Amino acid sequence: EFDIAIVGAGHGGAQAAILLRQLGFDGSIALIGDEPDPPYERPPLSKDYLAGEKEFERILIRPASFWEERQIALLPGIRIARVDPAARILTAEDGTGFGYGKLIWATGGAPRLLSCQGGDLGGVHVVRRRAEVDAIRSELDDVRRVAVIGGGYIGLEAAAILNGLGKEVVIIEALDRVLARVAGPPISEFYQGEHKAHGVAIRLNETVDHIIGRDGRAAGVHLATGESIAADMVIVGIGIVPAVQPLLDAGAAGGNGVEVDNLCRTSLPDIYAIGDCAAHENRFAGGARIRLESVQNAHDQAATAVKAILGQPEPYAAVPWFWSNQYDLKLQTVGLSIGYDRTILRGDPDERSFSLVYLREGRVIALDCVNAVKDYVQGRKLVADAIAPDLEKLADKATPLKTLDV
Ligand code: FAD
Repeated sequence: EFDIAIVGAGHGGAQAAILLRQLGFDGSIALIGDEPDPPYERPPLSKDYLAGEKEFERILIRPASFWEERQIALLPGIRIARVDPAARILTAEDGTGFGYGKLIWATGGAPRLLSCQGGDLGGVHVVRRRAEVDAIRSELDDVRRVAVIGGGYIGLEAAAILNGLGKEVVIIEALDRVLARVAGPPISEFYQGEHKAHGVAIRLNETVDHIIGRDGRAAGVHLATGESIAADMVIVGIGIVPAVQPLLDAGAAGGNGVEVDNLCRTSLPDIYAIGDCAAHENRFAGGARIRLESVQNAHDQAATAVKAILGQPEPYAAVPWFWSNQYDLKLQTVGLSIGYDRTILRGDPDERSFSLVYLREGRVIALDCVNAVKDYVQGRKLVADAIAPDLEKLADKATPLKTLDV
């Protein structure tokens, strides 16, 4: 029996355990995760770790010895299948039971798989876990052509890295632009142009009918139009399904994620949920109930849940931020562009340093900053305080954003 059990040893779970000790909690803590490794950073999986530029040890969230030193019982390789909120017992897939006093659910999500024929062939990969990226890397020597399905951040980052490794890459996207769900058209157009300039082909408005197989391995992608695209490897980046079934089975409110309040409490007693799997009402989304898939959100919700557990509740109100690296481009996002009614461009995309500012009813709700660190740093306050700036000044890159936050 553990005073606090944390299920999911990723960004949110690890941070919750670290914070509990930092804030002086001296009860027993279990950090239970289904992966074999100690907690590690996920963003490098589609960036420098995929490129082979970083050893696994360098992406560990803490050195492997840290957990024992802090008397955090790290229990890797264990997948929790059932939660009994009345008896306060977790049951693993192998039948092992763990009692808990309070539970923090931090399981993230499982990548959506291709449901079409051939989706399970060899050479078809997702990018969520270290093991999956190691599998991709182990096959790369024999791969010349890669088809990336899905033009979201992960697909685009993987495409940039594989292009850098000398592969012939084609991105297949169902919508009419890349990053359609997360960014405005000028950002999509800019990244489409960059990828094309690097020799990555982009096919928009195309859906996959099936994966072509040869001897049990992917040999290409057959599009709904009937066209075939040859590929020795297929990378699927089409989003995640939050890993919350055990909580829903136990009666927690939710569906697409598990519902939490502003202290990260689920509808079940003493069960909290954080990170990618937590459907919360976010002030920066106009109060809508959303899930946020970012390191920022996993970290900040870990703090919210831990403080609530320790009797120092602080409602979740963190300003969202995110980043994406592609080629030599650093995109930094602050705020959420959901529901914008206007955008203002600061700077010239052709100069490869610019920002797109998103407004709703005249107020700044988000910025996407491409190689524009100053705008990112100074724009944060515009988002946090929902500033309604002078639009002419906002559009003038020479006017520092910090002069507009009044
Ligand atoms: P995770 O970090 O996914 O941890 C959940 C853990 O729980 C996993 O280890 C999972 O295997 C385990 N688990 C699931 N179910 C069970 C169960 N039943 N029992 C036991 N264990 C279980 N965010 C950014 O902000 N910037 C980026 O640049 C960025 N790049 C990314 C690149 C990639 C390739 C990926 C995959 C994600 C990226 N993200 C990025 C998103 C970010 O990594 C996630 O938002 C963050 O990891 C969420 O933390 P989490 O704790 O909710 O989930």
